[in-house]
Amino acid sequence: MTQSDHIIPRDQHRVSRKDISDNALKVLYRLNKAGYDAFLVGGGVRDILLGLHPKDFDITTNATPEQIRGLFRNSRIIGRRFKLVHIMFGRDIIEVATFRAHCDSNIEQAKDGMILRDNVYGTIEEDAERRDFTVNALYYSVKDFSVHDYCGGLTDLRKRQLRMIGDPETRYREDPVRMLRAVRLATKLDLTIEEKTLAPIAELAPYLEQVPAARLFEEYRKMFLAGKGEATFKALQQHGLLGKLFPATEALLAEHQDFEIFIHAALENTDKRIASDNTVNPAFLIAVLLWQPLLERAHQLETKGMNFNDAFFKSMGRILGEQGQCISIPKRYSLVIRDIWALQVRLPQRHGKKVWSVLGHPRFRAAYDFLMLRAESDPSLREIADWWTKFQDADKETQHAMLPKGRRRKGGKRRRKPKGDR
Ligand code: ATP
Ligand code: MG
Repeated sequence: MTQSDHIIPRDQHRVSRKDISDNALKVLYRLNKAGYDAFLVGGGVRDILLGLHPKDFDITTNATPEQIRGLFRNSRIIGRRFKLVHIMFGRDIIEVATFRAHCDSNIEQAKDGMILRDNVYGTIEEDAERRDFTVNALYYSVKDFSVHDYCGGLTDLRKRQLRMIGDPETRYREDPVRMLRAVRLATKLDLTIEEKTLAPIAELAPYLEQVPAARLFEEYRKMFLAGKGEATFKALQQHGLLGKLFPATEALLAEHQDFEIFIHAALENTDKRIASDNTVNPAFLIAVLLWQPLLERAHQLETKGMNFNDAFFKSMGRILGEQGQCISIPKRYSLVIRDIWALQVRLPQRHGKKVWSVLGHPRFRAAYDFLMLRAESDPSLREIADWWTKFQDADKETQHAMLPKGRRRKGGKRRRKPKGDR
């Protein structure tokens, strides 16, 4: 193949400047003007070719991070796994990476083939080869408006298939997160995972255990909070990957149909919220996914003689601790999860001052939504859920009329177990 076979001129593809954000265009033009090659790459080009609106724009160039930094005052070099430059336009961040080589001698690899560090710059062809899927290795230039395709990504897009560049097994061993990306991108883009790309996943799923828990939290967000959470959950289950992310959840799904209904109701609800531009807190779904494991654990402690309240609160910490081994949950989110759970115990107790403190709790709304979703798989919660639906929006007079009259409950310090949980 000649060089020109890889270059598709402007009139033979559908990528146009109007699909690209002004900020991304600014970066591309300035790099070109300074004499560097610069391309839009990855999800940006892929999504435009599929007729979708990219959620972010990644740029790659032959300029080094220091050279890029020199061209943009509003930029900073960030050194996560690789050295990248972030160019800030207010809240919009354009990520610029230097062409990376895929040169074995420069890569530090662990015994099992996982890449620990690579940061050596290369040519655009080398850069293409170390990307994950062919459809992610398409480059768009604003110099001549051509698309560069070094790995057959355009043909695969036409076939609507997701195909790994190189030998899939080797590439998954290098970076097991690529298995999650395969499932996520196929679901998001409605692509079929090509046979050889799919085949090793079942066997290599355990490699996910070696991925740092913090990185998996970022992947969790992309998988579950990008609008296709329910479909992605099913796909992860189907490909045997769910248990590597949420082991306690997966272990209980088969025997608890109501738990599965609860999870799907929550995922569907999250997808709908995202579709209508509502905010979603990453904590909420984790609280859902760990709810049955929490109840089971509390029950185990109860059978050993602990009272329900102590068992429930003790189990919260344990379940979160165990989940944190796989996917790290930043403290600001684990606190929200605890609040949502703790409020499940308080919501059924509708008497006295407690009602007002529950209503005024900063997590009331999330806890109420959680209860509503639980009620979808547990009719015994319907009455309590409906009561709170009415109560929270009622005027003061109606609210007072809804509260039990007169007698206060004696010795009411002890919290009861959440109603309907067994
Ligand atoms: P999204 O629509 O979720 O942003 P994306 O493909 O753009 O999808 P990013 O995480 O933004 O995902 O990555 C940008 C590009 O970087 C990818 O298209 C791919 O070319 C490359 N890339 C990302 N992660 C990997 C990986 N684990 N291994 C190899 N290449 C990767
Ligand atoms: Mg992207």
